[in-house]
Amino acid sequence: MEDEEGPECGKPDFVLLDQVTMEDFMENLKRRFQKGRIYTYIGEVLVSVNPYQELPLYGPEAIAKYQGRELYERPPHLYAVANAAYRAMKRRSRDTCIVISGESGAGKTEASKHIMQYIAAVTNPSQRAEVERVKNVLLKSTCVLEAFGNARTNRNHNSSRFGKYMDINFDFKGDPVGGHIHSYLLEKSRVLKQHVGERNFHSFYQVLDSDEKSHYQAVMEAMRVIGFSPEEVASVRRILAAILHLGNIEFVELEEGGQEQGRLAVTEEVLVDHVAELTATPREMVLRCLLARTVASGGRDLIEKGHTAAEASYARDACAKAVYQRLFEWVVDRINGVMEPRGRDPRRDGKDTVIGVLDIYGFEVFPVNSFEQFCINYCNEKLQQLFIQLILKQEQEEYEREGIAWQSVEYFNNATIVELVERPHRGILAVLDEACSTAGPITDRIFLQTLDTHHRHHPHYTSRQVHLCPRLARWEGARPLPPHWPWPPRYSVEGFIDKNRDSLFQDFKRLLYNSSDPTLRAMWPDGQQDITEVTKRPLTAGTLFKNSMVALVENLASKEPFYVRCIKPNEDKVAEKLDEGHCRHQVAYLGLLENVRVRRAGFASRQPYPRFLLRYKMTCEYTWPNHLLGSDKAAVGALLEQHGLQGDVAFGHSKLFIRSPRTLVTLEQSRACL
Ligand code: ATP
Ligand code: MG
Repeated sequence: MEDEEGPECGKPDFVLLDQVTMEDFMENLKRRFQKGRIYTYIGEVLVSVNPYQELPLYGPEAIAKYQGRELYERPPHLYAVANAAYRAMKRRSRDTCIVISGESGAGKTEASKHIMQYIAAVTNPSQRAEVERVKNVLLKSTCVLEAFGNARTNRNHNSSRFGKYMDINFDFKGDPVGGHIHSYLLEKSRVLKQHVGERNFHSFYQVLDSDEKSHYQAVMEAMRVIGFSPEEVASVRRILAAILHLGNIEFVELEEGGQEQGRLAVTEEVLVDHVAELTATPREMVLRCLLARTVASGGRDLIEKGHTAAEASYARDACAKAVYQRLFEWVVDRINGVMEPRGRDPRRDGKDTVIGVLDIYGFEVFPVNSFEQFCINYCNEKLQQLFIQLILKQEQEEYEREGIAWQSVEYFNNATIVELVERPHRGILAVLDEACSTAGPITDRIFLQTLDTHHRHHPHYTSRQVHLCPRLARWEGARPLPPHWPWPPRYSVEGFIDKNRDSLFQDFKRLLYNSSDPTLRAMWPDGQQDITEVTKRPLTAGTLFKNSMVALVENLASKEPFYVRCIKPNEDKVAEKLDEGHCRHQVAYLGLLENVRVRRAGFASRQPYPRFLLRYKMTCEYTWPNHLLGSDKAAVGALLEQHGLQGDVAFGHSKLFIRSPRTLVTLEQSRACL
């Protein structure tokens, strides 16, 4: 790895571009990519392009080069960001977070792994056993979570089908002493159906079937290290198998109508036997749950209502999805239990500080977008809003702290879009919830009509009778997109009500709670309830997701943020190919040009006086080799005056603020001429 980057590598910081246009931005991105420079800054934000090849950028040697350095001292790198977050946390006891975003296949998960590896490498120099244990669990947790939450998709062979936020707790020495994972919206429908060319979750191949020997061994080893018992692993395997058998069960109506129980049958009874055996539940109970449901008919009277074949298939699917989701959540909880900081007393040990790492799905746009894309894109709008606010807030705070006069910058606030989705009463999610709670038949189309009455004049809403189209994204300067990228995304309302209700009959919950397998039973605590007690409507999927997003954003906002913006260079997953149209699009919706502008509207660069002198003191006779000017601030003033650059800067209490990137370019040139 070379420390210095020549001009042929482009600008290491987009803030240094002569002009902030899409053309200039793309030119720089491309030039750097061609030279294997996949990382570039926008101030302290790191832009990363997936190289789709192993580059010699990582490992102990590279880590050593970044350890303890300032962000700009070395070429842009994930390690520099990890190091900056770690140092802010350690030196100033600040909770920090690293937000990694980008579309599927852009390299988010790989980035989060490099960050974790960096943190693991630079901590626990004294090899404390408990810290080593925590580090091991942190590192191994990735492998297990990927097995249960990732799948091969057409966009990414190892695509995360859930959002992940992981807190790592550090003690006052800066060593990891625990952690906690939050997972968001697992794409559980994958259990039942996958697009052509895609696969089910890795777990079905890597845990159940040992076709993928090396993965199987790695997952088993990781589960062992984390502390899953052999009995638990065996249960997990049985549950996975049960899901597959359950999914294969088909129904046949024996008589016309099929309303009464007894008129419906399963076509292959042996599948029921398998499910019963694997879930350790009575066969007769399994069959009953598949063919009928219990309903309360006034007071405590219970009646059994037979399913139609369609209802039974629907219930079977809901059950298979729910069993997988509970399994996944149990795995996450189990890992959390092991990572919980042990035996720590804040009075004795001091307060833990935290670094959070967020690896969450980016904007998703398909020819037909459904409830899942709607949630994912809403999540991205929310994060984008936070990004804008934090980046601006941070800038403003720094100017105040340093005593610099500053005028606010205008920026696009996507709050109107977020509000369109989450506002009480009239927001899309509220209208959807209302539709879901309506007794009697309600269709997706009626839901759409209600939205129309509320929002037809909203600038980010268009209804085409079958599509609702909140413009859950905003973009500028991008060229027309290839046809498979319809923009702005439109959402088909079909299935919204169903997916939002996300209901599962209580009979299944009771069945699984009564399993004699303790691991499975533990996943279904709500199965204890009697049907007559289950009167309160559970929160809908949309509301649960919204609540989790609000909590996530609040959590992130309370921390000092670092951002990694990942870009996918092409759709073919190949090295050395940067598809311009595709990249422009991502640059646009990630708001990167705006980011550069905001950064430049104030001051393009800021540096503590000692660091500035270290880099440029050789360009001035008053400062080389050492200055006698009383303070570093005064010395920097003399240096700039000699270059005639004093008009372009502001002197903060501890830092120099440089307005135009040209000033830095001039200084760099005079340094190079020596
Ligand atoms: P998703 O949203 O689908 O989970 P993602 O953004 O997490 O996507 P990754 O799984 O991190 O994407 O990356 C996709 C693939 O790209 C990886 O499996 C790897 O092959 C390659 N890749 C990503 N980052 C790098 C890197 N820094 N060096 C080499 N290859 C990389
Ligand atoms: Mg991922």
